[in-house]
Amino acid sequence: MSPTAKKSLNPLSLKERIKVPRQLMPEQPAEVRAHNFSEVNLGYSPELAQQEAIRCLECAKPTCTVNCPVGVKVKEFVELIVIGDFLGAAAKIREDNVLPAITGRVCPQEDHCEGKCLLSKKVKPLGIGYLERFVADYEKRMGTHIVPSVPPTGKKVAVVGSGPSGLTVAGDLIQRGHKVRVFEALHELGGVLVYGIPEFRLPKQIIREQLDYMREMGVEFETDVVVGRTVTIDELIGEEGYDAVYIGTGAGLPQFMNIPGEHFNGVYSANEFLTRINLMKAYKFPTYDEPMLDLQGRDVAVIGGGNTALDAIRSALRLGARKAYVLYRRSDAEMPARAEEVHHARQEGIDFQMLTAPVEFLSDGKGWLTAARCVRMELGEPDASGRRRPVPIQGSEFNLPLSVAVIAIGTSANPIVQSTTPGLGTNKRGYIQASEETQRTTRKGVFAGGDIVTGSATVILAMGAGRRAAKSIHDYLTTGNWETAQESPAPRA
Ligand code: FAD
Ligand code: SF4
Repeated sequence: MSPTAKKSLNPLSLKERIKVPRQLMPEQPAEVRAHNFSEVNLGYSPELAQQEAIRCLECAKPTCTVNCPVGVKVKEFVELIVIGDFLGAAAKIREDNVLPAITGRVCPQEDHCEGKCLLSKKVKPLGIGYLERFVADYEKRMGTHIVPSVPPTGKKVAVVGSGPSGLTVAGDLIQRGHKVRVFEALHELGGVLVYGIPEFRLPKQIIREQLDYMREMGVEFETDVVVGRTVTIDELIGEEGYDAVYIGTGAGLPQFMNIPGEHFNGVYSANEFLTRINLMKAYKFPTYDEPMLDLQGRDVAVIGGGNTALDAIRSALRLGARKAYVLYRRSDAEMPARAEEVHHARQEGIDFQMLTAPVEFLSDGKGWLTAARCVRMELGEPDASGRRRPVPIQGSEFNLPLSVAVIAIGTSANPIVQSTTPGLGTNKRGYIQASEETQRTTRKGVFAGGDIVTGSATVILAMGAGRRAAKSIHDYLTTGNWETAQESPAPRA
């Protein structure tokens, strides 16, 4: 732990800071929130935020920043919270992160900033995500945001997909004076942030406000446009005169288990299940009635252990499920979901059946799901992913009565754009090939990033790719140079 040379504005000594406990996030009681879709976490008050902020050790080489995919200057923004300059703290975060109200809520901080916090060698890490969320929400309450005015460059860019990577590209490029139009296949903007992550984790109003801000800055949006069907990339560059195109179409194609009975009524992909809840507004039950998702008194299981699985099963619980199971074929240690979501799900009464996988779905003979035939697992040697391979235990099969099963074992790339864009290179799994530094694809003037390049990842990684792409697109537009583009400094949000 090495303090900085600059005089600290923190009133506590390093020893005193370690003694301050991590401030708990106020939250709805588990037994209450299990029956509503309101946000689980209620947010820090200014006092709690300052009490948490004074725990920061102000390391000379802050590993939190190095481990944040967009390099948020954690030490600097936390110090501004310590002295009560919350708007200054928000501005400091926005230098690197255009969506702090979102990342503060959904980043897997334990894998990024907080995972490398030096405090965690002795005590709990600094609540960086909680603090980020606090300043973003504070800024919103104060109603202070500056709409930058930039002279137009005369260049125009098409962004395909309105998820976090597309929105980041659009936000960065509009601030460099380029005209930007975002094309979205669905009728709502926001990508997984809207159709995947439920209201109780990320209120849709936050995305709407972000979109309003982007509209104020001049970004244009067009929904219900499936690029590759309604219009092709070649048409955007040719007839429609776009100077560059960014593809941020995500990885939304659901994967199935390919086990008997997966076609029965009552078996859903997580994608369909969550889209019905989020976009067809089943979460506003009974105001909006989505008959296919009447789960009152029914037994529901989700298969998988990621954020998607937990979002699906916690939504099912809120829609009235009697029993809500997670069936995961590995153990707690391998679960990819955010630690906080696993903790919250357990508090809410989700039944985690670890080391368990379905091998077949059973029906009533009329095509309706009645049970999952499951097998217990033990962990063997590590597989290609480095995680220990689940191995079925002979003779451990049992039937779990169910009326709804949700498959959340992963997604893959939707091929529409790739298959309609000649010369656009893809890898063997169908993801678009793009440079890691510049997000340039094999087609001149076409850039790509986020899940459509990496496979299903995280919001902040998608945003990081969007940020790199915006720099690279700007460079291409201003120099016309495709081969040896230079990186240029990021805009200030
Ligand atoms: P997306 O968010 O998938 O957006 C792509 C957009 O492109 C979509 O709106 C799609 O409709 C649109 N599109 C696709 N094809 C076309 C086309 N041909 N024409 C026009 N538009 C098109 N990450 C976290 O960091 N924390 C979490 O807590 C978390 N929870 C998650 C929960 C769920 C349920 C899911 C599914 C994912 C979660 N993730 C989480 C992962 C994260 O949301 C993704 O990694 C991230 O959204 C990827 O961003 P993206 O911009 O690449 O793509
Ligand atoms: Fe941490 Fe995410 Fe904020 Fe980066 S953007 S500091 S990883 S919460």
